[in-house]
Amino acid sequence: EDRLMDSRELAQDEKESSLRPGTLDEYIGQQSLKDNLRVFIQAARSRNEALDHVLLYGPPGLGKTTLAYILAREMGGQLRMASGPAIEKSGDLAAILSTIEPGDVLFIDEIHRLPRQVEEILYPAMEDYCLDIVVGKDAGVHTIRLSLPPFTLVGATTRAGDLSAPLRDRFGIVSQLEYYGLPELEKIVDRTSRVMNTDTEPGARREIARRSRGTPRIANRLFRRVRDFAQVFNDGFVTEDIAREALDRLKVDHMGLDSVDYRYLTGLIDRFQGGPAGLEALAASIGEESTTLEDMYEPYLLQIGFINRTPRGRVATPRAYAHLGRKGDDGCQN
Ligand code: ADP
Repeated sequence: EDRLMDSRELAQDEKESSLRPGTLDEYIGQQSLKDNLRVFIQAARSRNEALDHVLLYGPPGLGKTTLAYILAREMGGQLRMASGPAIEKSGDLAAILSTIEPGDVLFIDEIHRLPRQVEEILYPAMEDYCLDIVVGKDAGVHTIRLSLPPFTLVGATTRAGDLSAPLRDRFGIVSQLEYYGLPELEKIVDRTSRVMNTDTEPGARREIARRSRGTPRIANRLFRRVRDFAQVFNDGFVTEDIAREALDRLKVDHMGLDSVDYRYLTGLIDRFQGGPAGLEALAASIGEESTTLEDMYEPYLLQIGFINRTPRGRVATPRAYAHLGRKGDDGCQN
């Protein structure tokens, strides 16, 4: 199955790192976040200090990694990349921290998945730029305290709620990334088409934007596929008709829903009478991982008002019934 909604960075995304905007000015949307960051960056620079630690949260593909790159660049440092689940032992983190240079940005993706004992090494590093290393054995065991250069930790997470309170409290800047609106997505597609030297009709850009579920990564993926169709059928010129046809063939509907969304919604409606259904039961019934559904699919379905989360489980809304062309719960008692 072809998954446009994959949260991971795929090989094809990576290949086109040129698509990543390199400065805050090129970074489209997230206006209030950018405005704030500009102030913090300028203040830190004029005091000759590292930027305060930044926690970015929100669904995958909204530009958290990109923003970390930009912050490193604007602060004149390098970006070091790490990911929560990959740092298994405190020694792994110590090894990363010991390579940091003044002004660097350490980006930790999925920071909510850092093991507890690793997290504890991070506290003094964030607060005092100190690294405590345990050496020796048995009666001779002791800690050595090393000092680190000033650096900025940028943590990214899809689930701010899963972060421990002591970790969350050590971030000076905490910001949620929002789904992008249509005009912003159109600009992103426009930028991508220029970077990739492709001619596109405005209608084609609008069509791609509409179906990319508020997410730049998906907009870029859809653009690539549409461009392939245009290459083969229209000398590379991306018209609105070509875009529409290509996207239909990719089974992305006019609201950006794919086959997993459909299975989710029809499962909820047919097997659970529209809910409430527990996430685990629903996931099992359609053969998906509950974390995949929770992190990648549900945030958008909630955003467009197709489902609600209640204490008793997930519920399909009348809008979802209407979108699927089902008659169903109209919200009335009888
Ligand atoms: P995340 O880390 O949140 O999963 P990324 O930073 O990897 O998301 O962004 C995914 C892709 O989307 C990037 O490669 C970049 O090309 C594009 N992108 C993200 N945010 C923006 C933006 N604000 N403006 C332009 N392109 C963006």
